[in-house]
Amino acid sequence: MKIVCNVFVSNRLLPSLAVSRSRKHVKSTLALCKHPKSEEYCIILFSGQNKNGTKYSLKGNVKQVLTKFAHEGKCTIQFNKPEHDLFIQSDVIQLKGFLHILKRALENKISQNELTYSSMAVTPVKQKDIAPTKLVIAKRSDYPIRGFPRTLEELHINDIQRCGIDRGIINLVNLRILDLSNNWIEFIPEDLSNLTNLKEFNISHNILARSTPKQWNWMGGNLSKSLLLLDVSYNELTYIPNQICKLHKLTTLNLNNNLIKTLPAGIGNLRNLKIFSASNNFLVVLPGSIKKLRLHSIDISNNNFEQCIPNGAGVFPKPLPVCTLKEYASRKVLGARLIYFSGNLPLTLVNYLDNAKYCVCGKACFEVYLRSSHNLLLGNIAESVSSSFGDMYVPIDCYFCSLKCSSLAYQNRSRHPIVR
Ligand SMILES: [Zn+2]
Repeated sequence: MKIVCNVFVSNRLLPSLAVSRSRKHVKSTLALCKHPKSEEYCIILFSGQNKNGTKYSLKGNVKQVLTKFAHEGKCTIQFNKPEHDLFIQSDVIQLKGFLHILKRALENKISQNELTYSSMAVTPVKQKDIAPTKLVIAKRSDYPIRGFPRTLEELHINDIQRCGIDRGIINLVNLRILDLSNNWIEFIPEDLSNLTNLKEFNISHNILARSTPKQWNWMGGNLSKSLLLLDVSYNELTYIPNQICKLHKLTTLNLNNNLIKTLPAGIGNLRNLKIFSASNNFLVVLPGSIKKLRLHSIDISNNNFEQCIPNGAGVFPKPLPVCTLKEYASRKVLGARLIYFSGNLPLTLVNYLDNAKYCVCGKACFEVYLRSSHNLLLGNIAESVSSSFGDMYVPIDCYFCSLKCSSLAYQNRSRHPIVR
């Protein structure tokens, strides 16, 4: 039996060497086999640099097999002679199968059916046969009929008029980059949030405007912890769903060339955001929470921003009513960034939480808040600014969770009474 995997070999006799060098896993073939005429099992490790292979006999030679992280596709096998530790990374199912056979071999319970016993037959897998980690599909005829290799880490499907995302993609648990730009996709299945390793998702030049509000639930779940880049430009979107505020790790967000009139009140919750662009839309005002962002660059050119308004227009600070228990609990849930979805909360509560307003201090509020309009100097939140209006002040629509937050903004108004 053999598996294709990534292996880092550490020599315990040279610990300083192992520590000083970064752990670089090498694409390898790991074969468990037995000489036809002997009863002895062995493991042979092949790689591009080690074409002849290193042989590790099993009988009395396995110091330890560490399988605690086998469910993540990782394990370590320690041998007595040579004193090598093999740090193995592989597809979870392949690895578990290999460990099962290894256990049986160590217990000497292996059957003829479980292993093809010929060490002579074991050859390293050729480079062309190694399961690919990247796939680019630019023609309809290239779309795989029998599904995608499970080892894929990067998948590009472009310009082939795909209308949806099939289950084969949802099951690619190693996927880091998914590029489905230039297709006819109308909505993203909620299960996409199961891709725990997905870091970049490009869904630009599609027709996501046809998604119903519920069909945006893929924004959240595990993607909250992994997704760094999202590109939804050129999708004819008239709004951006509130669920986007759950993608806490986003560093790059591209909303260019849509028909967006307003942004979610909680967009300022994306604290890791560094590059934000929403040019060529119909924005008239930005949400007040955007004041919390510290960006490398912002591009909001070609929008419909209103004439700058007097700071603090709208309300005077006034006492707020007492929060209901529901509002108080919901503020705590969002403040703690707890992950919620329709599976662990009633849908009405999920909707309630998704529709939170966000104070300029970053806290959520629901029914108890004050609201007024202010101006924001874009240079205060971004190092580089692209906008189509001169002095780069932009109107913001502010919510205040408390009298204290509102009073602070009101005091600032007297310092900067009117911009322009
Ligand atoms: Zn506040």
